[in-house]
Amino acid sequence: MNLMIDLRKVTRVNVSTRDLQIQKTYETLFALEDLRELFRQSLPTGFNDAEKEEFSRNLARVKATIEELEKGEGKLTCQKIGNKLDVRSREEEFINIHPIQAAGRLTPEARKAIISYGDGYSTCDYCRKPFRLDKITRPPIEEFHQDLAKFVNMDQTRVVPGARRGFQAVTQSLVEKGDSVIVSSLAHYTEFLAVEVAGGVVKEVPQNESHVVTAEATAQKIEDVKKETGKLPALIMIDHFDYQFANEHDVYGIAKVAKEYGVTFLYNGAYTVGIKPVDGKKIGADFIVGSAHKSMASVAPSGVLATTDEWAPKVFRTTQMVGDVTKRKFGIKEVENIGCTLMGGTLISMIASFPRVKARTENWDEEVKKSNYFLEQFQRIEGSKVLSEQPRKHTLTKVDTTGSFDTVAKTHKRRGFFFSDELKDHGIIGEFAGATRTWKLNTYGLSWDQIKYTAESFIDIAEKYGLKIN
Ligand SMILES: *Cc1c(COP(=O)(O)O)cnc(C)c1O
Repeated sequence: MNLMIDLRKVTRVNVSTRDLQIQKTYETLFALEDLRELFRQSLPTGFNDAEKEEFSRNLARVKATIEELEKGEGKLTCQKIGNKLDVRSREEEFINIHPIQAAGRLTPEARKAIISYGDGYSTCDYCRKPFRLDKITRPPIEEFHQDLAKFVNMDQTRVVPGARRGFQAVTQSLVEKGDSVIVSSLAHYTEFLAVEVAGGVVKEVPQNESHVVTAEATAQKIEDVKKETGKLPALIMIDHFDYQFANEHDVYGIAKVAKEYGVTFLYNGAYTVGIKPVDGKKIGADFIVGSAHKSMASVAPSGVLATTDEWAPKVFRTTQMVGDVTKRKFGIKEVENIGCTLMGGTLISMIASFPRVKARTENWDEEVKKSNYFLEQFQRIEGSKVLSEQPRKHTLTKVDTTGSFDTVAKTHKRRGFFFSDELKDHGIIGEFAGATRTWKLNTYGLSWDQIKYTAESFIDIAEKYGLKIN
């Protein structure tokens, strides 16, 4: 506790103009929000005298803060939201290499959209018959659903609260109690849970010695399941890039195997849809699932479930329930989606980010190039290893610094935290604090300048502690 207070004092004294300006930017935004609130609290006919005064006071505050922002001066007032929440300014202050946060950072459009559409059911202003989210034309939600389908080259899409809810909609529609579902031995926990909630049983395809899941291994697993249970699996669910190594798995080959056995195939694009081109028809997937808060620069929880015209009636089946007393029915509400899904800022943030998200998938090769460049530099630090396949085909990577930074941690009084401290001093965050053996980083979205700066910082830290640079 003492340590924390001391550190805060140090940063207070040494606060840079840049940090101050970041805080002043928030202060200005918040002052404008207070000003905005006056419109919400007053009569549509205009302000009364007290409100006029309040408005002037707020406006003066906005102007004063802007002046401080411009000059990079003023008190660093500890910004709070209410009295419990700190301002989150990590993305402004630091380069963030957090494995799951990189591609979920909002675009400026998404941030503007949530200022405007943050209110509860904000998508529902012009909801008309037949009263379903994906049918709303203002804002253009229906059109967005069509754009999304085109984006992943599938017939139909729905937005869902995260990839996990996409898996769940599929498992609950297709998997009967006791059915086997084939997943990768590198599968995400949410895939396990989506099978469990439907009463299914997970069967893992072993990875090979390079931590890759192949079509042959998947075919073998199908055979094993058939032999063991007397039945084919109800579903195969495979990640294109897994969350542990971000190695590429043979989804094309696996889709082909699935088709040969007549088993439904779900492509898990949590780490692809929104950062790299994904073509569902080319893959031969029955379902494509994406995570919008992981890879589509959107507010959580958000994601996408796409399918073919063949599967849509099953997974998007509409309610048949009739009230026994009232005889009420609810028309075209979809059972798996419990009617409507992302009814506010989440969906609006997806729509707002979409043009940039679509465009950025075309730059995937450049993102991969930056990832490989960074790791080349990183591996110059003797004892530093890359555990993921190389050359990298992704921006997420598992590294091993047991032979480098961990040797320093062994004798440092801050142990593994010395490394996070050093990175933070260089303006870099997102590595797992205290971890100096195996950990993950993601370089997605960093500019070349930021990539080079990050690489140089790693080398700088290594040199400081006498590690050899090759
Ligand atoms: C992150 C991740 C998920 C979960 O995504 P959510 O959108 O948070 O539900 C599922 N699978 C993989 C491979 C992931 O990396």
